Amino acid sequence: MTYERDIIRHMAGYVPGEQPTDPGVIKLNTNENPWPPSPRVMEALTTIGAEALRRYPSPGAAAVMNEAAALHGVNRSQLVATNGGDELLRLAITTFVPPGQPIGIAEPSYSLYPVLAAIHDSPVHRVALDSDWAPPAEFAAEMNRAGVALTLLVNPHAPSGRLLAADVISALADALQGVLLVDEAYVDFADPDHDVTALIHRHDNLMILRTLSKGYSLAGLRLGYGIGPAGLIEPIATKTRDSYSVDAVADHLGAAALADQSSARASWAAVRDERQRLTGTLREAGFTVPDSQANFCLARVPEGAAAGAAQLYAGLKDQGILVRHFDTPRLRDHLRISVGTPAQNDALLTALLAML
Ligand SMILES: *Cc1c(COP(=O)(O)O)cnc(C)c1O
Repeated sequence: MTYERDIIRHMAGYVPGEQPTDPGVIKLNTNENPWPPSPRVMEALTTIGAEALRRYPSPGAAAVMNEAAALHGVNRSQLVATNGGDELLRLAITTFVPPGQPIGIAEPSYSLYPVLAAIHDSPVHRVALDSDWAPPAEFAAEMNRAGVALTLLVNPHAPSGRLLAADVISALADALQGVLLVDEAYVDFADPDHDVTALIHRHDNLMILRTLSKGYSLAGLRLGYGIGPAGLIEPIATKTRDSYSVDAVADHLGAAALADQSSARASWAAVRDERQRLTGTLREAGFTVPDSQANFCLARVPEGAAAGAAQLYAGLKDQGILVRHFDTPRLRDHLRISVGTPAQNDALLTALLAML
């Protein structure tokens, strides 16, 4: 006897990257920021008293959302805090997609999207990205033709790191009949001039996902937020979200993290420097690596190399270095490598190049 809904019984769950307990493992597989969170966050952790834990937290995560409002120059009605960016994805689906109606995604992208669509009983309408990982010209028209209510677009793109400019995002928002959710999980590592938040004032169907997991080195905290026009934010903030999905600790520490921009920016700059070095060295070794604006590189293994991507992944793992290998038609001959500290990247490069 099973009590699961049919749709749940038949779906496959999300497979997270490995999280080894051995601290000696060099983890370049889940795109965590290799640098520690701001010292102000660690200080804030010591100031949480029993009273803050006894009481329910601020329902809207007021401390961190006030910081976010100042940071992005938006008002509170244009922000909603969530339990990680992942919860915002789930809430956007709940709020904007009638069950059964399709959800649009670019292929390939974040493998959680189809899982969330399956839970919602919605088919996924996939549009393949171009050979340079950009949406094809007919992207929006295809989504509209399929009756897509919500399009999920990760920018910078995962797993390639390719960044679409703000005017491209704006044109897509104009062309799409449904909601466009731009998943900016990695945007902190992009060119500092890149900013699409101003577009929420011009497009009533544009929502932006942010997370403190990557840019602020707080993946363990589980804190993300949405930025969008009040018409998109309000139904989530007042109806579909759980009242207390962001806990008091996350609210308090998240506020400290956003308030310390200089510490976060220093880590982003360090990641950019190492990303450039990693990209350059991999290219010299014959890998094809698109320009990445995220904290990872997607490297296609050179043809005729002594080992294929799956073997390289396994060989690195044997040496205590984890990267990500996706066994899908388009990505099978690639490795996705998170940018680590200089020492971690040196270890990765030494081990990888030795196996070629
Ligand atoms: C990491 C990530 C998120 C959000 O992660 P959270 O840890 O839940 O904030 C969203 N989209 C993509 C593509 C990601 O890689």
